[in-house]
Amino acid sequence: MTTATTTPRQLADAKRVGMVSLGCPKALVDSERILTRLRADGYAMSADYAGADVVLVNTCGFLDSAKEESLAAIGEAIAENGRVIVTGCMGDEAEAIRAAHPQVLAVTGAHQYEQVVEAVHEHAPPSQGPYIDLIPQPDVKLTPRHYSYLKISEGCNHSCAFCIIPQLRGKLASRRIDAVLREAEKLVAAGTKELLVISQDTSAYGVDTRHEARPWPMGQDTREVRAHMTDLARELGQLRTAEGKAPWTRLHYVYPYPHVDKVIPLMAEGLLTPYLDIPFQHASPNVLKAMKRPANEAKVLERLKGWREICPEIAVRSSFVVGFPGETEDDFKYLIDWLEEAQLDRVGAFRFEPVEGAAANDLPNPVPEEVKEERYARLMEVTERISAAKLAAKVGKTLPVIIDDVGEPDEDGDIGATGRSQADAPEIDGAVYLRNVPETLEPGAIVDVEVEDADAHDLYGVITDV
Ligand code: SF4
Repeated sequence: MTTATTTPRQLADAKRVGMVSLGCPKALVDSERILTRLRADGYAMSADYAGADVVLVNTCGFLDSAKEESLAAIGEAIAENGRVIVTGCMGDEAEAIRAAHPQVLAVTGAHQYEQVVEAVHEHAPPSQGPYIDLIPQPDVKLTPRHYSYLKISEGCNHSCAFCIIPQLRGKLASRRIDAVLREAEKLVAAGTKELLVISQDTSAYGVDTRHEARPWPMGQDTREVRAHMTDLARELGQLRTAEGKAPWTRLHYVYPYPHVDKVIPLMAEGLLTPYLDIPFQHASPNVLKAMKRPANEAKVLERLKGWREICPEIAVRSSFVVGFPGETEDDFKYLIDWLEEAQLDRVGAFRFEPVEGAAANDLPNPVPEEVKEERYARLMEVTERISAAKLAAKVGKTLPVIIDDVGEPDEDGDIGATGRSQADAPEIDGAVYLRNVPETLEPGAIVDVEVEDADAHDLYGVITDV
């Protein structure tokens, strides 16, 4: 006979897994998937080393500095807990990991969900019992509940000279469109207000499956939807939050292939957040050629102008590399002139750093470190000036802002909050700092804010719709 006491005892006995997640948002999504699967297998999560039966370290192996950080994290987990399983991008270099830390229990590579789950089962066998499996558990999420990353594909078909992702993660493998949309629907039903679409190359979604179409949604009004960025964007725009609004949906890692033009009208219609993250990396044709960048074509400036005519609020974010081998002063000046003309809203910059195994390491004419530093400083000066002017132009306007964090009352009882405008993706862009918010305000709320002030990166304002 089963009794009411059976389930609590089994839950209390559940094996506990700790997780250290390093690297980019894509790695974070992998960590969530692994933990979700382990939860379904009856494991509980541990917030600290001491309470864990085994610790998973999800590593990043993109740059040499990231590898060092990964090895240090593994060392810390071994010192604190002793029972460590390594997964993630650096897991593809099992020998280097075992040489530094022979005590690790197992090493699995990126996206080897089955293997990492098997390793956990082997080294910390799950408590048995059907009751744990019957308990509905929400997916484990490492991101706040109000925004979620939506991964649409793995891998990449390109071979950019500075990148080893295709070696680590393989060729493009797109998820089925109905699976992606079902996941998005579930996330929105569970309280997500903002979806962040990620992949290595979002514009190429579905190229490997010939844009295979699937019926969606099931039930009434079923239509054939293709695994294609524009179809995906249109369908995500049909989802509705509990408040009956379309969730904010941002497209990240979009290469400017011609079909990108088709998603801009969806932004103008309010179905897609007017934000595009396009990693241009450079502007000089010589450097782009040496980098072997995809969608490396002229006319990007003209297209940016066209996009702004269709959707004036669009914010374009990009990242750039300075000091790539062979970059001359003329190439760099070309980039600076291009940036002055492009007037991008958000820019991240990196000094070129060789990555073990990347083709760029063999290119001639490396740029001396002091020249890299000097170019980096010049680029940052230009992009900060552009950003400050763009943000200053928003002072006096009223913008929708999603709340990330609400503070405690200060000595006068005033409560501050931090949020983001539609031009700000979490963790990589700026913030909107709010004063005097109501104490009932909660993370995930979307409020109208009058912008009162601005600096080079952030806005400051007050809620108008309370
Ligand atoms: S597009 Fe280039 S930089 Fe991006 S993952 Fe593919 S090879 Fe790497």
